[in-house]
Amino acid sequence: MDFWKMPLEDLRQAAAEATAQRHARRVTYVVNRNANFSRICTVGCAFCGFGKRPGTVGATADRIDEVVARVGQTPWVTEVCLQGGIDPGLKPEYYFDLVRALREAFPWMHLHAFSPMEIDSLCEKAGCEPEEMMSKLRAAGVGTIPGTAAEILVDEVRQKISRNKLPAARWVEIVRAAHRAGVRSSATILFGHVERWQDIRSHFEVLLKVQEETGGFTEFVPLAFVPYQNRLGGILAGRAGGMKVLEERIRKRAMRLYPLARMVLGQAIPNLQTSWVKLGVGGAVESLSWGCNDFGGTLYEEAITRSSGGKHGERLEPERIEEAIREAGYVPSERSTLYGQVKKVFPLVNKSCQPLVEEHRIQRIATINPN
Ligand code: SF4
Repeated sequence: MDFWKMPLEDLRQAAAEATAQRHARRVTYVVNRNANFSRICTVGCAFCGFGKRPGTVGATADRIDEVVARVGQTPWVTEVCLQGGIDPGLKPEYYFDLVRALREAFPWMHLHAFSPMEIDSLCEKAGCEPEEMMSKLRAAGVGTIPGTAAEILVDEVRQKISRNKLPAARWVEIVRAAHRAGVRSSATILFGHVERWQDIRSHFEVLLKVQEETGGFTEFVPLAFVPYQNRLGGILAGRAGGMKVLEERIRKRAMRLYPLARMVLGQAIPNLQTSWVKLGVGGAVESLSWGCNDFGGTLYEEAITRSSGGKHGERLEPERIEEAIREAGYVPSERSTLYGQVKKVFPLVNKSCQPLVEEHRIQRIATINPN
C-alpha cells in the first residue's frame, strides 16, 4: 500500500490501528531534564534562535559546577539531556569532565548527551574518528545520544536552512559509529520549513537503512519548525503571506507526517514521540490519535524552542503529563530512556540529611515504587 498517497483520514485511521496493535492504550513518558551548557555557536542555522555568535548579546557558557548545580535542582529525574552550541571555546576535556562530574554527582541519572553535530565538532577538536570518540564518551558515562541535527537528511535542503551543518552522510556516519559502540540514539526530523514531501520520504529511507543495519534507534521524534524568532521563520512567513498562514501550513504538515511515520517507520522504529514543546499539550494529546505512543519528557529547562519563540513553556510536571494522557483515554506509563521500567534509586536526602525531594514527590515515588 502506498501510504504517501493515502487520503488523510484513511491514513490516520490506519496509524491509530497500528499504534493500538503495538502499544494498546499505553502511552509512555520520561522524567527528564535538559541542561544546555553553552549558547555560543558558530554554525548559524537559519531556523535557530538559541545559538549566539561568540561575543554577541546572550552568548554565554556555563562552568561545569554551574551545570551540576542546576541538575541538582531536580534530583528525581532519571535522564539528563546535555546539548549546547558549537562553541569554539570549549575543549574536548570540558565535555568529558562534564559527563564525569554529572555521573559522580548523580549516578542514578542516564546521560543522553551531545548531538551528532557536537560529536562531529569534538572529533575535529580532538583529531579523532567518530568510533574512537564514541568509545571515549561511553567510557566517560554517556548512555545514549540525541539524534538531533538531522533536520532533513538531504543535502540540498540542508544547504538552504543550515549550510554550515554537518552533511547528511556525516550525520549517518556518526550515528552508526555511536550504535556500533553500544550507544543508542533517538532519530529526529525538523519539518515544516522548505522541505518537500519527497525530501521527507528520502529522510525516512535513510533512517530505515540505518535501523536495518544497527537497530540502534530508540524512537523517532518529529520536531515541528518553530518560526517566531529566527531568520528562516521571518523569510517563510513573508513568502507565505503572514505568520498565521505559515503556522497553519506547519500544523497541516504535522497532521500527515505523524501517521506517515507510524506507517512507514513503525515496524522498524516502534516508538513515535510527540512534542508538547512544539505542539502544546493539546496538540500533543491530539497526536496520540495520529500514531504517537510516547509523550516525551518533563524537560524542566527547555531553552531551544523558547529561544525561537516557542509558546508552550519550559517544563511539564509528571503529574500534568499523566493527567493529560489519562484525560485523552490512554494509560500513562513512566519509562526509562531505553523504554524499560524506571528504577528510582536516588537518595532522598543529601549528605547533611537535608531533604532533596519535596514531600509530595516522595509520596508519588512511594506510590509508583512500593518497594
Ligand atoms: S541549531 Fe545548533 S548548530 Fe545550529 S545554530 Fe543552533 S545551536 Fe548552533
